[in-house]
Amino acid sequence: MAELKLTNLTKEYDKGVLAVQDFNLHILDKEFIVFVGPSGCGKSTTLRMIAGLEDISDGEFEIEGKRMNDVAPKDRDIAMVFQNYALYPHMTVYENMAFSLKLRKVPKKQIEVQVNEAAKILGLEDYLKRKPKALSGGQRQRVALGRAIVRDAKIFLMDEPLSNLDAKLRVQMRAEIQKLHHRLQTTTIYVTHDQTEAMTMATRIVVMKDGFIQQVGTPKEVYDNP
Ligand code: ADP
Ligand code: ADP
Repeated sequence: MAELKLTNLTKEYDKGVLAVQDFNLHILDKEFIVFVGPSGCGKSTTLRMIAGLEDISDGEFEIEGKRMNDVAPKDRDIAMVFQNYALYPHMTVYENMAFSLKLRKVPKKQIEVQVNEAAKILGLEDYLKRKPKALSGGQRQRVALGRAIVRDAKIFLMDEPLSNLDAKLRVQMRAEIQKLHHRLQTTTIYVTHDQTEAMTMATRIVVMKDGFIQQVGTPKEVYDNP
């Protein structure tokens, strides 16, 4: 759980070309923020700056009042879920979920407890010994979520996590993510271009266009006053 403050956050990939410009947002503890907007408007770039996967060109990023601009990704207490799941194909479900804990030198017994707990929450208990290729799409998505929740991170970032699933599974996983947020109350930023996802999941929606924030508000505020 955490509060985030983004002040004049700006990203310039190529000289003079601004992918994100003067992004200002104060995210409260436990919020579920959804970024929406057309392809290329800067959603992923903003998420990647928060995760530390892209350098911030200008502006400030703070978690709980602490400046994070130059903090290494692994020290940000942030867990990210990607569109393509980014599972390690040669590792089992258990090893995929345990990996980031191992990296952080968590004791083996503790890893076991945390992975089993996450597996239980996500209904993956019977799949721990499988490799990703022996899982269905929905199960792979659950493992990707499991890798995030196993770390007990303060912040979740999700970049179009459901867009590779078919319509039926998307609705089901959407409900599961909502349930997860209800249970864990982890501050979440979720990127999508699916309006239904934004409307049903968000505490607040951030509408982006051409690297700028166009509008911020509750789903009702955004979709009643487009
Ligand atoms: P979205 O996630 O909303 O689709 P992105 O954040 O991926 O948007 O992209 C925002 C802008 O930055 C786009 O114009 C895109 O072409 C550009 N961009 C993204 N990644 C890079 C990169 N690695 N190098 C140069 N330009 C990039
Ligand atoms: P879905 O209908 O959910 O896409 P599948 O029909 O692909 O699922 O698989 C049904 C069950 O069999 C799932 O629990 C899946 O994990 C398992 N399974 C699929 N492929 C393999 C495999 N190659 N080896 C072991 N188990 C598999």
